[in-house]
Amino acid sequence: MNAGVIAIDGPAGTGKSTISKLLGDKVGAHYLDTGAMYRAATLAVLRAGVPADDADAVTAVVDAADIVLQPTGTGASRVLLDGEDVSGPIRTDEVTANVSAVSAIPAVRTKLVDLQRRQAENELLVVEGRDIGTVVFPDAVVKIFLTATPEARALRRHRQNLAAGRPSDLDEVLAAVNRRDHLDSTRAVSPLRPADDAIMVDTSDMTLEQVLDHLVDLVRARIGVAS
Ligand code: C5P
Repeated sequence: MNAGVIAIDGPAGTGKSTISKLLGDKVGAHYLDTGAMYRAATLAVLRAGVPADDADAVTAVVDAADIVLQPTGTGASRVLLDGEDVSGPIRTDEVTANVSAVSAIPAVRTKLVDLQRRQAENELLVVEGRDIGTVVFPDAVVKIFLTATPEARALRRHRQNLAAGRPSDLDEVLAAVNRRDHLDSTRAVSPLRPADDAIMVDTSDMTLEQVLDHLVDLVRARIGVAS
């Protein structure tokens, strides 16, 4: 098997997670969801009752936290915080509202980037995040940056919420998408931005299948994975 990293970056709501998982299945690679690590760190901070913007207190909590991302058989992964499966609790609105503040703290990034790099040794891995092609794996064999208009991304999130039985207001979802984009792309450390050598894919008017087919073609062309 090839070793190497397929980097998938981009803002929330581009279909990144779903597509990265499916892409991993298609090209025979495990999948690493780095956002889940930042979410687990944020959950630890919230549980400790520490304000997400108190850098010293957050750093102490995250330093002490044991965060493990376990691949499962299906391409998805399970996130453990101090041994507890927190795959559900990391998806709450409260975690989503605080994760950008926690992930902007340099010491948090240092710890999680280190974990991400160690997980990628010796295997072909699809790694999904915000700074994978720019900072975590600048030597990734393929770098893809998924984009879509804020409106298209908010609509997808809104539909996902409704399908999952969660109450959802489209205007609020759009405001939250814009807020998180702003925080993630303006932070001082590792802001969300495409690497100079990333391939940009605008998914606004593409179905999930179309995006997946396009990415599979791109990856196969770069690394020669058999059909
Ligand atoms: O991908 P997801 O929406 O789960 O990411 C949650 C948050 O984690 C992002 O909004 C961002 O603040 C942070 N993140 C990051 N760097 C990554 C992945 C996620 O800062 N590589």
